[in-house]
Formats: sequence, structure tokens, C-alpha cells
Amino acid sequence: MKTNLLNFDLNALTEHFAQMGEKPFRAKQVMRWIHQGGAESFDEMTDLAKSLRAKLQEKAVVGIPVLMAAQESRDGTRKWLLDVGTGNGVETVFIPETERGTLCISSQVGCALECTFCSTGRQGFNRNLTAAEIIGQLWWANKALGVTPKNERVISNVVMMGMGEPMANYDNVVTALSIMLDDHGYGLSRRRVTVSTSGMVPQMDRLKEDMPVALAVSLHASNDKVRDEIVPLNKKYPLKELMAACNRYLTKAPRDFITFEYVMLDGVNDKPEHAHELVQLVKDTPCKFNLIPFNPFPNSGYERSSNKNINIFKEILMEAGLVTTVRKTRGDDIDAACGQLAGQVQDKTKRQEKWQQIYLETKP
Ligand code: SAH
Ligand code: SF4
Repeated sequence: MKTNLLNFDLNALTEHFAQMGEKPFRAKQVMRWIHQGGAESFDEMTDLAKSLRAKLQEKAVVGIPVLMAAQESRDGTRKWLLDVGTGNGVETVFIPETERGTLCISSQVGCALECTFCSTGRQGFNRNLTAAEIIGQLWWANKALGVTPKNERVISNVVMMGMGEPMANYDNVVTALSIMLDDHGYGLSRRRVTVSTSGMVPQMDRLKEDMPVALAVSLHASNDKVRDEIVPLNKKYPLKELMAACNRYLTKAPRDFITFEYVMLDGVNDKPEHAHELVQLVKDTPCKFNLIPFNPFPNSGYERSSNKNINIFKEILMEAGLVTTVRKTRGDDIDAACGQLAGQVQDKTKRQEKWQQIYLETKP
């Protein structure tokens, strides 16, 4: 089988070229052609010698994932659905704002962690995306959106907040992050690339050494009792450990705060006493809060908190000096809002069980 060069960051590509007897700068050239020039074939890489192009053609491909659909919402939100085989699709969402353009990327087909309020979690886990499938999402969106009239990239920020738990697909996510940050790739600033995790403590520790980018943590509860119920991973890494990991992360992070995401579920985690408890919980951790009004899906069993309760909750956090924003729901009309991504994961229940054993088993 031919090697897919889209799976390689610059180091791996350089190594690959060395094995072919080629100089390191060739790897940089090819990387720029693929990720900046949007090239899909070696024929397009006109500054490579014909002989090298022929050699590459024989042994390698630029394996861009197949685009199944592209949609645009009334509010300018855009969505791409990529084919990842076996009847599955993963989604990528672009959210334009005045000062920035944010691309929301998926890391897995489904998710094994089963947070009760998340439609991806309810659908089960199919498989990890390859590095090519992760970076392929940025490749497509970048190709579609291009640059502004000022010649700046339309995509200024990337958040790993689509389907899946990025830290459960660690190696492929780190390779994709490396390509995002590389000046020969997408040249994004570390501060503008965010990994969102439901709290996989060991991987948070690894990420701060391997590829420190901005970190968002899906907190969603102010105590272990509520969090155990809605984020089952909490049974393995309870709040005390999670908060300690956040503080360790901050010693190496490119930003001096953690973003805590907090889904607002009516009657579950949205009471004033929860907000007060939260203030205590995070008192030693520099952070900002992002309150996410729950996005409903069929048979979820949850309701979105009222705007009034969300505002009361926000005020309590703000009065305690915590910067708090309420996430606007975007792209509702194309099902592009948080937790609404990709219709149908073909659940491989056995595989999901296996993954859950790995992630959710309680520690000895
Ligand atoms: N697995 C990672 C990243 C993907 S989810 C994580 O959990 O952090 C991105 C964010 O959307 C998370 O904070 C997640 O908890 C939240 N989310 C999931 N389902 C949601 C829903 N139905 N309504 C609102 N937010 C949701
Ligand atoms: Fe997985 Fe994140 Fe959904 Fe939880 S919220 S099930 S970790 S995608």
C-alpha cells in the first residue's frame, strides 16, 4: 500500500524523505504544497524535479478524506461532512466571528466516554480518526475559505471540540496539532489552537510536555456526585485530581488560564448553590468559564436551563471575579451546534465496551 503523506508532520516527513535519499528541504516543500497550496497530487508540485515526482507517485499519495457534503447556515456557520468509511461521517464546523474565524474539528468517530448529555457519547464509539483524517478537516475548510482581502487566513483558530475525545486518540491528535502549528503547515499560534478534554489526566500531563496548546476542560459540575453522573470519566479521575492536573498544565501552557466548559442542564447543575460551589472548586486555578446552554437532541432526558437561571449563574461567577461567557448557539439550522454533530455513528458496541474498559475502569 502507498504511504499517505497526510499522516506525517514535518519530522516524520523529513524522516521519510531521508529514507528515500532526499534532502530535508524537500519535505518542507512538499508540506507547503499540501497544506498551504492545497495540492492533492504530485503533478501540481512544479518545483520538484520530475524524477522525484515520479518516485513519489509510485510510493506515496496525498490521501485527502472524501468530502460527502458541505452546508452553510443562515448565520454564516459552515459545515463539512467527510467520509471516514463503513458508512460513517465526521463533521467539521466553521464559525465566523468579527475578530476571528474558528474551525471546530472532530477527533474520533463517536466517543466511548458516554457523557449523558452528549449525543456523540450516546451514539457509541466506532474508531479513532487517523492523523490524515484529522488534519484533512482543516485542509478542506482552509481550501474552501482561503484568505481574507488582507491576505490573512480566514481560519485563525482551531478548537478540538467536535466529535470524540481528543485525548483518547492522543498520538494522531498530537501529529495533527504539530501540522497545525508548523510554519510549513498552517502556521497557527499555540494560543489559538485549543484541545478540549473531558478530563483524561495522564494525557493532559503528556500534552503539556509534547505539544502545549490552549486547554479547555469540560467541567460541567461543581462536585463529584453530579459529575460522576453526567461525566462517567469522573469516576476514574475525580475533581481533585482533575484540578491538580489543570494546575500542572498551566505551568507549561501558552495561555495563563484554563477554559472551563460548563453545559447548563435545567435542574441538574445550574442552581445558585452549584455556582457558589464552583467558585470554591476553582479558587486556586486561573480560569475562564464558558457556559454552554444545553443543545437538546431526541430522548436526551435533559432540558436547557432557562436564560434567567443561566444569567443568575453567570452573575455569581462574575461577582467572584471569574470571567464568564455564555456560548451563543450557532448553526442551529444545520445541526452544527455543540453535541449535535454527525447524525449516525454506526455503533460497534463490542468495540465501545473494550474502550470503556480502558478508559472507565476504576483505578485499583
Ligand atoms: N470530548 C471533548 C470534546 C468534544 S465535546 C470534551 O468533552 O471536552 C465539546 C463540548 O461540547 C464539550 O464541553 C461537551 O461537553 C459539550 N457538549 C456535548 N454535548 C453537548 C450538548 N448536547 N449541549 C451542549 N454542549 C454539549
Ligand atoms: Fe465524548 Fe466529549 Fe461527548 Fe463526553 S462530551 S461523550 S467526552 S465527545
